[in-house]
Amino acid sequence: MEKTANKALDLDGSQGEGGGQILRSALTLSMITGRPFRIERIRARRPKPGLLRQHLTAVQAAAAISGATVDGAHPGSQTLQFVPGKIRGGDYRFAIGTAGSCTLVLQTLLPALWFADAPASLLVSGGTHNPAAPPVDFLLRAWLPLLRTMGVDMDVELQRHGFYPAGGGAVLARVRPQGALQPLCLMERGALLGTTAIAVVAGIPGEIARRELDAVARRKPQAQQEIRQLPAGEGPGNALMLELRHAHCTELFTSFGARGLPSETVAARLLKHVQTYERSRAAVAEHLADQLVIPLALAGRGRYTSALCSSHLQTNIEVVRRFVDVDLRLRDGEGCVIVEAG
Ligand code: AMP
Repeated sequence: MEKTANKALDLDGSQGEGGGQILRSALTLSMITGRPFRIERIRARRPKPGLLRQHLTAVQAAAAISGATVDGAHPGSQTLQFVPGKIRGGDYRFAIGTAGSCTLVLQTLLPALWFADAPASLLVSGGTHNPAAPPVDFLLRAWLPLLRTMGVDMDVELQRHGFYPAGGGAVLARVRPQGALQPLCLMERGALLGTTAIAVVAGIPGEIARRELDAVARRKPQAQQEIRQLPAGEGPGNALMLELRHAHCTELFTSFGARGLPSETVAARLLKHVQTYERSRAAVAEHLADQLVIPLALAGRGRYTSALCSSHLQTNIEVVRRFVDVDLRLRDGEGCVIVEAG
């Protein structure tokens, strides 16, 4: 699986999607393959380019678990060099220090710990429900169950919610290394087994959650409803989620409330994402599709169908191809895109 030469790979962070994912995927794959890398123009296509707290925490945490030597790890840095050592299990704690996403930090580190020399626990504090990142519920309900089918032995626990801009959330993950991954074969989502709409509110009126769920119910009358009213100190924050449980996988869609945004608009945005998925014949939707690329490549074999061919998906495939000798392809399927390895 590993590329043989140990010469540092040169990456351009402005390529393709041009966000933090290029860096995070490079960190993960560098730790696993032992291949050092140097990246320039980090997050060049984002309004505030360079390393933000979330990316810096991912870099520092990756260095801690793999004994790496790092150059350029400071706020705003657009160039970084990373030379990994050996991945070590153990108990780790990382504080992002802002509402930066805990889940994106975890998704950088956890795959490396699947191949560590001993079990590991990771406690990450920061944001747990952030726009433009997977909420912890997504990890728990959608991402983790599929990884378990690939043989990953891992638990994730949401200890405290954290929303933008206050942060203050915490997530604990425990990993028992299992060595090689089993191939993923997920071509169809299977029959719909159940739907649940979940409104999370912290430090804002419960009435908002009620209105969001009522708006979802007009289009999804069969959905079960759940209101998660959190202590005010965990807010302010509001997330509306829709979980679709199918026979072969679960998908979770999220939309965030914001001051001045009507509850009905929050629900309409959520349902728009759901509709794109429901109109396709794919097993997974946009976000799960780009987050399964690394596990698929590490297994070396397998395939799944995606509702969309997003730029995150394409960019992640490009980064994986630089680190791992695996034949990773995208091709058109019937009403979907097929991501295939081996
Ligand atoms: P980047 O924009 O490069 O920082 O990457 C963001 C990551 O978060 C990608 O893997 C996206 O698929 C993922 N993501 C963004 N929004 C969601 C969401 N609502 N649910 C799940 N994953 C998400």
